[in-house]
Amino acid sequence: MREGSTMNVLERDALDLLFTSLKERGFTLVGPTVRERAIVYDEMFSAADLPWGWTDRQEAGTYRLERRADDAAFGFTVGPHAWKRFLFPPVQSLFRAERSGSKMALRPAGPFAARYALIGVRACELAAIDRQDKVFLGGTYVDPVYRQRREGAFVVAVQCGQAGGTCFCASMGTGPRAGSGFDLALTEVLEDGRHWFLVEEGSERGTEVVATLPVRAATEEEIAAAGRAVERAEAEMGRTLDTEGLRELFLRNYENRHWDRVAERCLGCGNCTMVCPTCFCATVDDVTDLAGQAAERVRRWDSCFTIDFSYLHGGSVRSSIAARYRQWITHKLATWTDQFGAPGCVGCGRCITWCPVGIDLTEETRALRALDHGAPAAPQGGAS
Ligand code: SF4
Ligand code: SF4
Repeated sequence: MREGSTMNVLERDALDLLFTSLKERGFTLVGPTVRERAIVYDEMFSAADLPWGWTDRQEAGTYRLERRADDAAFGFTVGPHAWKRFLFPPVQSLFRAERSGSKMALRPAGPFAARYALIGVRACELAAIDRQDKVFLGGTYVDPVYRQRREGAFVVAVQCGQAGGTCFCASMGTGPRAGSGFDLALTEVLEDGRHWFLVEEGSERGTEVVATLPVRAATEEEIAAAGRAVERAEAEMGRTLDTEGLRELFLRNYENRHWDRVAERCLGCGNCTMVCPTCFCATVDDVTDLAGQAAERVRRWDSCFTIDFSYLHGGSVRSSIAARYRQWITHKLATWTDQFGAPGCVGCGRCITWCPVGIDLTEETRALRALDHGAPAAPQGGAS
């Protein structure tokens, strides 16, 4: 919580006023909504667009929406979309080149005009945004597309009141409680016939928005009730991952036969990388018009599971699925820490739920440990 700020209570029927206040400040709202039998992130216009009364059931390779017994607005866990689709878009024009007579003019992509208010960001997703900040903003080369979108964004976090079957944020130290990285954090409480939100301020902008809302200071009992909701999520966590010695485990097992076993099941489809909130691999396409008057460079998401991604002068350096899976999980759980100071996995569980054959990185790590002979760690490995 921000120093000097208070915890406030916003009644359920006043939630829409929060969205109105953000729209009046010029934000485009994006948040969870039901579409095609999943809870996805999309543009929202009012609180009515939230998935009131819906929940999700997730297991390895399985996702199903179900009706809840109550009318909760945020009574589900993370779905197939991550916030990266708004901050690091799947397809992005970088520049155009246009011919005019004998001259060629280069036109960079225009500034991104919208400012997003991200509604319902979970603790693991705040950690994922922080990981992508390190990738896109933290080094020598800053990504201007990401920076524009990220700097303008207003973050409304939601504390998890339940955990999904594939979640393991508690193991990764990224949740279920969001402690920082937001402008406002909501905890939804349905207890004793009441339905309300505890509102926590995380920034000056958040405090300014709260000042426009019909809130009142929370009582100690209300703060305790909100705390109980998050404790329930921690107790329900569907998966665990033993992170002890994880980096060394992967670095000394490049040649383990386990990778061939995973490759017998892995389709190399790349679904795990598309849904992952931290994966950032991309490629560029140059697209020309048929008249030869204009060309455009477009960046689009790519995946370390595609054979083209590791194609270098005459061949792929990771031609087998075993090598590609090993690369993906080793980068996530070991070499990402060497590059960016924290693992590339925040324990959201999406790659487990959305893998069509239910490959589970927590299970694969356990299986690798069982085959590990504990030899000394290999020298520091490469990354994506
Ligand atoms: S590797 Fe899997 S569990 Fe970890 S952040 Fe990515 S999608 Fe989530
Ligand atoms: S682990 Fe699953 S989602 Fe990832 S590439 Fe293999 S089959 Fe596809």
